[in-house]
Amino acid sequence: MNNNESPCPPDGRHLDALCSAAAKALTTANRYPDSDLSALRSALARYIGHGVGADMVWPGNGSNEVLLHLLQTYGGPGRTALGFGPTYSMHEQIATVTGTRWIQADRDSHFGLSPEAAAAAIERDRPDIVFLCALNNPTGTPLDPATLDTVLHAGPGLVVLDEAYIEFSAVGSRAGLLSRYPQLVISRTMSKAFGFAGIRVGFLVASADVLTPLRIVALPYHLSTLTAAVALAALDHADELLANIPVILAERGRMRDALVSSGHTVARSDANFLFFDTGADSSAVAARLAGRGVLVRDLGPGGWLRVTVGHPDENDVFLKALADVTR
Ligand code: PMP
Repeated sequence: MNNNESPCPPDGRHLDALCSAAAKALTTANRYPDSDLSALRSALARYIGHGVGADMVWPGNGSNEVLLHLLQTYGGPGRTALGFGPTYSMHEQIATVTGTRWIQADRDSHFGLSPEAAAAAIERDRPDIVFLCALNNPTGTPLDPATLDTVLHAGPGLVVLDEAYIEFSAVGSRAGLLSRYPQLVISRTMSKAFGFAGIRVGFLVASADVLTPLRIVALPYHLSTLTAAVALAALDHADELLANIPVILAERGRMRDALVSSGHTVARSDANFLFFDTGADSSAVAARLAGRGVLVRDLGPGGWLRVTVGHPDENDVFLKALADVTR
């Protein structure tokens, strides 16, 4: 329960379609993939909606890879990227490995980010790239639409909106803003709501002008024929794969209630994980949970842990183990 994966693997309803797509792809395994990934980009554009065309989609092996392509292209020595912590640690890591200077500003005590705080940080640091999370990892906090609006008007740099968990939110993707804000880049993934973490498909959504230069940094044929074929089949069955979302959200509510009634403070989460205050030394609690076979994530701030919503029986095991180790 430490990786924010879906607890639901592909099952009988769509597994046959995924297997047939993989088998068909293997019959052309001697050939390199379509370097344009045109079928996948078109299918992703249809899935995204909001008038997004295939030339506005850049797929890769997970959203971390496409974010790396973005920072290789637009970051680098002499450039800066700003994020608001606590937040997804790979944003900093991807910035750092591309030689981009990382600047971190703070969220408020409820892990929110006000328009004023975001504007002040941008005014102070004048970053080339600003990272926002539609639903923040590790806290689950939704992004205030007014904050996004302020950031989009605040500076000349790129604004990366990480929508990794967007399918879990009632608000939905902000891809409709792309036609008005050419500096906006949205990152999405099939790792979470689609339950495809092991397949590795993520994608950027942005104007063709922003995306075309990424072809220079991406290695040739970076996404395999097999990955693209299975992703296409999954997009064909998106409704069935995404039907697990309400089940996960109901379990999130149940876990949240149980944590609150045991006296824990739980951050508001619109995602498939919860961030809660153990009221104790979180690394000791995480270690004791691990001793009982339950893995959670200890990312700080001190005292807080992140737990992914699992199957109902896994969630029961977690709740019981937590009660035992924090007793
Ligand atoms: N963004 C956020 C906010 C995430 O939490 C994650 C996964 N933990 C990712 C991006 C990367 O996901 P992937 O590379 O599997 O698409």
